[in-house]
Formats: sequence, C-alpha cells, structure tokens
Amino acid sequence: MSGWDHSADLLIVGSGAGAMATAIRTHDRGGSALLIEKTDLYGGSSAMSGGSLWIPNNHLMAAAGVSDSPEEALAYLRHLTHGEVPEQKLARYVETAPRMLRYMSERAGLHMQSMLTYTDYYPEAPGGKPGGRSVEPHHFDARRLGDEFPNMREPAVQELVMGRVSMTATEAHHLLARHPGWVGLTTRIMSRYWLDVGGRLRSKRDRCLSLGNALIGMLRRALMDRKVALWRSTAARELVIEQGRVVGAVVEQNGRVLRIRAEKGLVLAAGGFESNDEMRRQYLPNPTKAEWTTANPGNTGDAIRMGMALGAAVDLMDDAWWGPTTVVPGEARARMLVIEKGLPGSIFVNKRGERFLNEATPYNDICKAMYARNTPESPCVPAYMIFDATYRRKYPLGPFFPGSQQPDWALPKLLKEARYLKKADTLDELAAQLGVDAAGLRASIEKINRYAREGRDPDFHRGESLFDRYYGDEKVQPNPCLAPLDKAPYYGLVVYPGDLGTKGGLRTDASARVLTKDGASIDGLYAIGNTSASVMGRTYPGAGGTMGPAMTFGYIIAEELIGG
Ligand SMILES: Cc1cc2nc3c(=O)[nH]c(=O)nc-3n(C[C@H](O)[C@H](O)[C@H](O)COP(=O)(O)OP(=O)(O)OC[C@H]3O[C@@H](n4cnc5c(N)ncnc54)[C@H](O)[C@@H]3O)c2cc1C
Repeated sequence: MSGWDHSADLLIVGSGAGAMATAIRTHDRGGSALLIEKTDLYGGSSAMSGGSLWIPNNHLMAAAGVSDSPEEALAYLRHLTHGEVPEQKLARYVETAPRMLRYMSERAGLHMQSMLTYTDYYPEAPGGKPGGRSVEPHHFDARRLGDEFPNMREPAVQELVMGRVSMTATEAHHLLARHPGWVGLTTRIMSRYWLDVGGRLRSKRDRCLSLGNALIGMLRRALMDRKVALWRSTAARELVIEQGRVVGAVVEQNGRVLRIRAEKGLVLAAGGFESNDEMRRQYLPNPTKAEWTTANPGNTGDAIRMGMALGAAVDLMDDAWWGPTTVVPGEARARMLVIEKGLPGSIFVNKRGERFLNEATPYNDICKAMYARNTPESPCVPAYMIFDATYRRKYPLGPFFPGSQQPDWALPKLLKEARYLKKADTLDELAAQLGVDAAGLRASIEKINRYAREGRDPDFHRGESLFDRYYGDEKVQPNPCLAPLDKAPYYGLVVYPGDLGTKGGLRTDASARVLTKDGASIDGLYAIGNTSASVMGRTYPGAGGTMGPAMTFGYIIAEELIGG
C-alpha cells in the first residue's frame, strides 16, 4: 500500500445505477468495492430518472405470461442497430440482462414490476414487443435509508407532481389516461403524501419514492446492508498507470488529494458529457446547449476525457439519449416533453410554420429529425409546439396542470412575466409572437385539422404505431393522437433538442473493457453507462434502454473479475 491512501478490488467512479450494481455484485462474489461520487449527492441521473430498465426476456414478463426469447430480443436489437454494434456485445446483453435483473431482485432487494402495456419504442420492428420488456421500481420507503436519504439526488422536476409528489410510471399513465379508478388513485396518492406528517414536518420531499429515486434507494440500501463504502464529494481527477496497466486513481476529496488503488480493476461509471457546454459544442450537432439537458449537472465528461488521455477510442460522440425539452424559467434543469408531444390537438412546427415530423414518435427520434431537417431555409432548432384551447384545458403540459384545474390566470407569476407560454386569439398573432411564418402556420393547422377528421396523417403517420398510441388519448377517435386545433386562444412553446444524457463515450468490448483504436484493451480499465459508447448504438429500444445496459455491464465486470 505504499504511496496509496486506500485500496479496493474495484474502484468505481460514479454512483448511478450501473455503479451500484457493479459494487453489489462485487461484494457478493467476495470482493471489495469503493464508489466515489464527485458531487455532494449520490445517484446521478439515475436517481433523477424514470427508473425503468429495458430487460428483454425478463422473469417478470414470463410470470405475467408474456412471451419473449433471446432470439426475438437479438433480432430486434440487430434490426435497430444496423450492424453498428458488434453482435457479440448485443448477444452478451441479451443473455446477461435477465440474469442481472433476477439476481438483483432475489438477492439485493430490487423490487420491480413489469410495465406490461408500455411498448417497446418500435413494437412493429422484427422482434419488437407490445409491452413487458421495460420494468420499473415499486415504491420504496425512504425511511429505510435513514440519514442517507437526504444525500440522494432529487428526482427531476418532470418526475414529480406539483414539484413534490411522486408516483410510478404505471400510476401516472393510469391517471393521464383516466382509466377507471383514476379519481380514487389520485386521492390515495395525495393523501399518502399529506398524511406523512413526519415527512411534511421535515421537508416537502416525498418519502414514498418512485421511479429513479426508488431504484437508487433500493440499490443504496443494498450497499448499506453490505457495508460497501460510497464517498461523496470525491472526484476522480487522473488515472494512475503502472507498467501499462491502470492501477488506481488520483482523487480530490474536499480539497484533499488522495491516491486510491484499484487492485483488480477501475470502473468508469461517471455518466456522459451532457452538462459540459464545451464538449457538447465540440461533439454534438450544433446548435446545442447544456441548458437543454434534463440530466445531472455533475456529468461533465470527466471520465471520457480521462480514458481518451490514455488512448482509448470513442464512438457515438455525436449522439445522445435525445428528447424535446422546454426550459422553464426558475427551474434548475430542462423538462422533457415525453407525454405532451403526442397528445391530440398539438403539433410541432419549424420557423416556416411547417410540420416536419411525427410528434408522437419516440422522443429520441424527434431531436434526430430536428437536427436532420434543420437548414438555413427552414430552421427546426428550436421548434415550436402549437396547441389550442381544448388541448390546454384537457392535458398537463410541462410545468402546468390542465387548464381545467389551473386556468391561465392561475399560472405562476414568474412564468407570466417571462412570457414563457405564448398565447393569442388568432394564429397570425401567435405566429408573430413566436417569430414563425404565419401563412405556413395557418396552412399546417388547416392540414392537421383535416387529418384529424380523417384519422390519418399521410405526411408523417402520427398515431399509426402502437408506441404513438400509448401516449395518445384513447377517448379521442378515430386517431387518439390527432385532434383539430380549432378553438382559440392558441398557444405556443419553444422546444429544444434536449436529452436525458449523452450516449457516446469510450469504446468497450462485451466485457466492458475499454479499447484503443486498434482494438486492444487497456489493462485494468472498464467503462459502463454513459461513459461508454452505448451497446444500443444509435437507437433507443424501449424505456430503460440506458440503465438496463449500465447495470448489466457492471454486473458482467464483477462476475469476470471477482471470485467465482
Ligand atoms: C428525467 C430523466 C428520466 C430518465 N428516465 C430514464 C429511464 O426511465 N430509464 C433509463 O434507462 N434511463 C433514463 N434516463 C437516462 C438515465 O438516467 C441515464 O442515461 C443514466 O442514469 C446514466 O447512468 P450513468 O451511470 O452513466 O450516469 P449517472 O447515473 O449520471 O451517474 C454518474 C455519476 O458520476 C458522477 N461523476 C461525474 N464525474 C465524476 C468524477 N470525476 N468523479 C466521481 N464521480 C463523477 C456524477 O456526478 C454522477 O453522479 C433518464 C434521465 C433523466 C434525466
């Protein structure tokens, strides 16, 4: 130990779901792990997230009688990744992900439910499924974390009702679709929150965790049970090499510099570079801004740069887990418009007032279209979401409740003063406020109103995929994603190509070893999650397509390096 302040079999940089899964499996195989987290809060974007994991052929779907197989899952991924991801890596994911989930469920207290109606994002593709591959956490009682609860990163604001009350994605969908029993469910959720007197006396933070906070809560509890150390406010600054092998890292902890030895491997699980403006401008399509991301402010690409400094190759650096976002004045992070964009009575247009995509398509593809179709003649970045009074009355949007519950006069003063939501009695007036071509906008609305009556969108096929309809309004017919925009006032919102994190990073093999350009592995160095180039290539197969792999490849590292 001479020259070292501390050592562990695995030094894991980061504290998201992938990092924690790696540490749990390392411990259970008889090894020691240390997690270090740069910020003063653990959990990263994983804690802020929806908490879902995309695990094909998982035991929960089997228990619910939904069929799946490795062959179907592989066919699906092969089709979506267009040969850009080595077959061996895809196969490793398909083989290990269900095993990882079962292990974590049976041994580490991960309590998940299958999202049986949440479709794969491309359910009509070969091997695609109409539901079940995405799983999400049940609620988790934050009191089980004791003093460690306030040290967890809070959920993203878009994951909470009124910025405070939490619910599972399954519950949220039930309420939004107003399925039978939705009133009772709302009452139960709200009463649960307000009747937690002990919690309310402490803070507004909901102690009945769901989504990413529940996932990280469960994993954190498993680490605490195992006495695995997680050091917050400890940033990896530099990797230490001895005879060509990564043997540890120099870290900074509250101004102190420490050297930590990684006996068997060093795992970079420090997220992507979404919060680093300079790296965004360098690698992502432009224009781009860190202000448009919904993800963790601590994810500034440190680990990717540390790997690159050692000669690691990178892939997919121009890509992200995209989604259209709105920047709400007074809120720390952008919000993604996951549900809102496909609900009937709204459209996205470019500067010319023209539609240019299927608004109900998976959020990842929206931003790809925004960039692909962004030209000086028809700028699509930013885009503009247009909707009418009926939409406003019926549906929640960004920071707003439906107008039926929160009329325009009751909107927060800050947002009114910032003129965040544009509103006008005529389309021409709205176009002028947004700086959009009025004739183009009028023509687009005329067209979509006709398509809504016919129930078909021949231009972009909105509402044709089962995925589109998942977030549609099933009470609106003939197409649950299309309704006319014919009731004044009209509204508009500026929409940016935002993200849930970047997905490009260090090139890794099927064992998560970091590779150089010539295909050799860098001894002792591993990368998972958004620090690595995604096993999903340029696609987003379904909800959970980012954390499922992060946890699975962490699990693989532990299985290969530790014990037996
Ligand atoms: C609102 C929202 C909803 C989402 N929903 C889902 C979902 O339902 N399912 C899904 O799969 N994905 C979802 N995502 C995306 C997902 O959360 C991320 O892609 C994933 O969590 C990334 O995991 P990670 O381990 O790479 O990074 P993170 O979970 O962000 O963890 C990385 C950690 O490393 C720390 N770090 C950075 N640099 C250093 C350093 N130098 N030293 C030490 N620590 C460092 C960071 O502070 C951070 O805490 C969502 C994201 C958001 C924002």
